Amino acid sequence: VTKEQKRRMAEWAALLLILENRSKRAMSAAMRLPLALPAIGGTRAHVEMAMRTAGRKAITAVRSHARDVARTHWVKTSGVSVQTDVSVKSADEARAATSSDSLARQWSEKRNAALIDGKSEAEASQAASDAIESAVERTAVTEAADALNAEIARANADARARGYKVTETWNAILDSRTCEECFYRDGQQRVAPDFFDPPPVHARCRCVLVTEIEG
Ligand SMILES: [Zn+2]
Repeated sequence: VTKEQKRRMAEWAALLLILENRSKRAMSAAMRLPLALPAIGGTRAHVEMAMRTAGRKAITAVRSHARDVARTHWVKTSGVSVQTDVSVKSADEARAATSSDSLARQWSEKRNAALIDGKSEAEASQAASDAIESAVERTAVTEAADALNAEIARANADARARGYKVTETWNAILDSRTCEECFYRDGQQRVAPDFFDPPPVHARCRCVLVTEIEG
């Protein structure tokens, strides 16, 4: 691994970290917003529905932003232009709906359990939000990492189709939290026509594909 490659890996890792932090804040805020609804006359059903909508919008925004950041940095570092693809937007929206529905369902289950425990409506809603917080954060960081890598992989595929020699290097952040699988893949390379099935390989995976292109 050259000094230049190391610098690139560090840049991508930093971008992922920034995206993940931003994503966590946005998701957490979006999923707590519906808690204010009962104060203005919203029912239980309203809160859950609003949670699904807020979560879906937040995840879609997270993914769209991560793709923009990935594409901009990819173009800047490769010097190769790449087309945007409108079809990824509907795929991202479908994925966002699934994740958001799952979080809202978890929230409802926790709230119902708290109500059975004798908590008030407001207390139960708050307790449910606290209980799903780590699931919300896990979704936020995983969606950011997934969209970032999906866009890198898409740009790489576009470049391969146009005849560029594309080299992908798997870059895991190596620390005490790195799992065996990601540790094993770190530094591995695929040269066109070969390519990786992009990270994340598990929830909270912090791996990034780093690309090198020759004409
Ligand atoms: Zn990983």
